[in-house]
Amino acid sequence: MARRKIVAGNWKMNKTPSEAKALCEELIPLVKSDDVDVVFCVPAIDIPAAVEAVKGTNICIGAENLYFEDKGAYTGEISADMLLDAGVKFVIIGHSERREYFAETDETVNKKVKKAIEKGLTPIICCGESLTQRKQGIYLDWIRMQIKIAFQDVAAADAAKTVIAYEPIWAIGTGETATDDQAEEVCKAIRDCICEIYDQATAEAIRIQYGGSVNAGNAASLFSKPDIDGGLVGGASLKADFGKIVNYK
Ligand code: PEP
Repeated sequence: MARRKIVAGNWKMNKTPSEAKALCEELIPLVKSDDVDVVFCVPAIDIPAAVEAVKGTNICIGAENLYFEDKGAYTGEISADMLLDAGVKFVIIGHSERREYFAETDETVNKKVKKAIEKGLTPIICCGESLTQRKQGIYLDWIRMQIKIAFQDVAAADAAKTVIAYEPIWAIGTGETATDDQAEEVCKAIRDCICEIYDQATAEAIRIQYGGSVNAGNAASLFSKPDIDGGLVGGASLKADFGKIVNYK
């Protein structure tokens, strides 16, 4: 069975709540699609405004992070229940910026993935190598390790419903996109790794996005690759171009 494409925007630390409302309203008519799942992952404070703005549309709202505990003395953190209650459906976990600036590790990624699944949120699980790791030729080993730890103690049926985003760090926000073949090589390796951990059916079901300077000009060729099921989009998700990425065909 063909996998349904999924295109998610990662707004990062951009847009105030009123700007978020305005951007949602601008993008709603542009991202209409019968074939592609569309997600706006927005800053936590923008969630209520974004959920309200996209009501009745094909857009789901996602968060950019969560904490793996249910509640308690974790100043500044946001729980899965809080996100769910606010109307969130997806959550980005383990973005390279969180790994780099906020000390996120493969182990905390695994805890967050399990919490998201337990609560019924769909995690978008990020992985990807640095330029040094690519040059050293260890990128596939590195990403296989990230995937194996992220999915530790996750059941096959739950894994099948998650989304993985392959995001080479050297391509994020740099304007330098992986070539279609580079992106496909890694997305296929991730699918093979899921097959090793679980089975063929889980590997066939799971959706794997490419992220890293996706834009209106390169989305169609990237998304035509057999193991690339859409994109996680940073910079271009904040402008009208996002509609062209969703409607890439
Ligand atoms: C991202 O932050 O997930 C990302 C892919 O950013 P950009 O599209 O701007 O490279």
